[in-house]
Amino acid sequence: MLRLCLASSEFTPFAKTGGLADVAAGLSRYLADIGQDVRVFLPLYGTIDRRDLALTPVEFLQNAVIPFEGRAEQFSVLTTPIPDSPHSIYFVDCPQRFGRNAIYASDGDEHLRFGTFCRAVIQSCQHMGWAPDIIHCHDWHTALIPLYLRSLYEWDNLFSETRTVLTIHNLAYQGLFPADVVTELGLDAYRRLLWQDDLEQGRINFLKMGIVYADAVTTVSRTYADEIRTEGSGCGLHELLQSRSDHLFGIVNGVDYGQWDPATDPLIEANYTREDLAGKKKCKTALLREMGLRAGPDVPTLGMVTRLTAQKGIEILYEPLSEMLGALDVRLIVLGSGEERYESFFTRLESAFRAKMCFYRGFQNRLAHMIEAGCDMFLMPSRFEPCGLNQMYSLKYGTVPIVHRTGGLADTVEPWDAETGRGTGFVFEHHTPDGARWAIGEALRTFGEPTAWRQLIRNGMAMDYSWSRQGRAYLSLFARLCDK
Ligand code: ADP
Repeated sequence: MLRLCLASSEFTPFAKTGGLADVAAGLSRYLADIGQDVRVFLPLYGTIDRRDLALTPVEFLQNAVIPFEGRAEQFSVLTTPIPDSPHSIYFVDCPQRFGRNAIYASDGDEHLRFGTFCRAVIQSCQHMGWAPDIIHCHDWHTALIPLYLRSLYEWDNLFSETRTVLTIHNLAYQGLFPADVVTELGLDAYRRLLWQDDLEQGRINFLKMGIVYADAVTTVSRTYADEIRTEGSGCGLHELLQSRSDHLFGIVNGVDYGQWDPATDPLIEANYTREDLAGKKKCKTALLREMGLRAGPDVPTLGMVTRLTAQKGIEILYEPLSEMLGALDVRLIVLGSGEERYESFFTRLESAFRAKMCFYRGFQNRLAHMIEAGCDMFLMPSRFEPCGLNQMYSLKYGTVPIVHRTGGLADTVEPWDAETGRGTGFVFEHHTPDGARWAIGEALRTFGEPTAWRQLIRNGMAMDYSWSRQGRAYLSLFARLCDK
């Protein structure tokens, strides 16, 4: 049995802005289910409604003190069962840092919020007298843990056998701060361990420190692991990542089919399986009705559920979607929120094609499930996509993904080949309007061939990206790192 400590800034269902939350929950659940000693730590954000949770204070972890330069932070640890799971989670309660109405804030103390969290996780292990074999860090928010273990906590033999793993969910977010926060983080005496060029240029980069000091670095697909070692996709860190190639691994995320399976999903109109797709039609009708769109079952319906950020590559859809809605009898349903330019594009598209298109601005889990179940096709034109979850949900729901060949999209969607009847979706090579136009056109054409379409759907629904498959790769990496 391995002792595994997982530190994450997000965890479904307590705190989620994107895929990280689902991955932290799904991976830890898998590892705990197979009998590993897993302890998960998450900040107790002000956004988490305490009244809904049976929070139990961990007696020996109340008002613990983290000494920083000239001041101290206090935290307590509370535990609560994870809904729909036999396992529990530890919340780090530090109201002065996490008692805000947002998971991520822009109040000028983001470095301290997550620096404090990193140290609280380490000190919690100390108070528990629990020596983790692995501390698994996720993204920049917890990327200082390996450095803290080599500096402020180096004296503690409890961690002498502990190995650290940093998983990069998205290299574009690195946690960059001015160098003067080094003192506040308690790292003044360890400046020699920091990245000297950065310090000279007046900054510190949390993620970079994690890449340098973690025993292994993983990212969330094999293709993304290759891409981030190139200048074009390395976000300034490609040379460092190249230098760590022997310790860098791409492991495709798993999917929590406990939440995302049309056979059991309680959030959709009717359940269905690969063998009996009748329920999918009902889901389509219910979705169209709820969105105020009218159409028969043979009208192809495309969906999107996404953060509306530059990463998601929306620009290349501007022309193809306008043309498609202008010329063809199709429906389009988009759920998302984010940057103004993309929101206003979809708002304009909706006003121009009210009978064919619906844009729901916001974040709504139930509607996300309904779109996955009720659409025929799912669009993901991402400029880059470390892994992506929605295309894997789409496969499971028999909703054919149309994707750009990048990162995890390349690893999980196999191009449809009409000759052989193999493949699971439509994959375009060039991130241009023409690329997207071609793939959407191919998908619509194939939709008109019911036998081929059924085959395509069935191929996708047979794919298995469950954590019980994907989680094994993490487990063997962890075991290898600690020689167990
Ligand atoms: P990313 O982490 O880059 O946002 P992923 O595809 O890995 O992209 O994960 C996105 C997750 O967030 C999925 O579970 C998706 O269903 C969910 N999601 C994204 N936007 C919304 C939204 N507007 N409403 C509901 N769920 C959303």
